[in-house]
Amino acid sequence: MIPQRRTIMATDPVCYMVVDEEDAQYKSTYRDAEYYFCCAYCKKQFDADPKRYSRIVPDMNIDSVSC
Ligand SMILES: [Zn+2]
Repeated sequence: MIPQRRTIMATDPVCYMVVDEEDAQYKSTYRDAEYYFCCAYCKKQFDADPKRYSRIVPDMNIDSVSC
């Protein structure tokens, strides 16, 4: 059993991995919204074309998707 932590989770808009906002090392701000990424690669993808990814608002539970 993994104990539930009280943290705010964000979803990486590039690969849909769930990212802990407090631990996130990679994030970008676009149009006053913050986006969190699991890795430098995803951040790069987002920064290259933020319009493409910022439209996606993944509020659903996709588990274990990785890049
Ligand atoms: Zn990612």
